[in-house]
Amino acid sequence: MQNNNTAISQLIEAGKWVSQKEWIPATGGNFSARTESGFVITASGQDKGKLTNEHFLQLDLQGKPLAGTKKRSAETQLHLSLYQLIPEAQCVLHTHSVAATVLSQITKSHKLDLTGYEMQKALSGFTSHLETLSIPIFNNDQDIDHLSLLVSDHHLHTPIEHGVLIRGHGLYAVGRNIDEVRRHLEVLEFLFSCELERLKITGIQASNNNK
Ligand SMILES: [Zn+2]
Repeated sequence: MQNNNTAISQLIEAGKWVSQKEWIPATGGNFSARTESGFVITASGQDKGKLTNEHFLQLDLQGKPLAGTKKRSAETQLHLSLYQLIPEAQCVLHTHSVAATVLSQITKSHKLDLTGYEMQKALSGFTSHLETLSIPIFNNDQDIDHLSLLVSDHHLHTPIEHGVLIRGHGLYAVGRNIDEVRRHLEVLEFLFSCELERLKITGIQASNNNK
């Protein structure tokens, strides 16, 4: 388990990368990593491309503050729930990209099914483009405690593997370390962009995503 300073350094680097990719406009999103004392998470607001050590809070795994004076984001609760639900999750990156926002908005189903893309194989657990990748979609809710409960209920029957989409809002990507979560985020964002382009050209939504 990594210490707080290492985790914060990795998240600062991730912030610069995600910002360059334009997946977090206008201080949106938040990043966290599990540490030996609980987890560290970005405070509310802040340009994620310009993070410094003081833009982080340290919390225990019940959400109790251990260090940091900045205001916590309301979305902290969903990070906390993901760590409680998925013991192997070490890092969560939450982004607000155009593709994730629009695709989750226009997909009627409670999950986004993707198949046929070679890049699916870059996600842990996938060996073929013929497998179906299902990313759950939850309706956006300003009551994050309620949203977290829905995510928890879902996880009981369909374990969350790579991440979840919040409708019209963005993506929470999870991974077993910083490298894996960055890969999951990049692959999912790539696939969302491909699917959005495909929809724009063909106007045809995959049948599973339209009900
Ligand atoms: Zn958000």
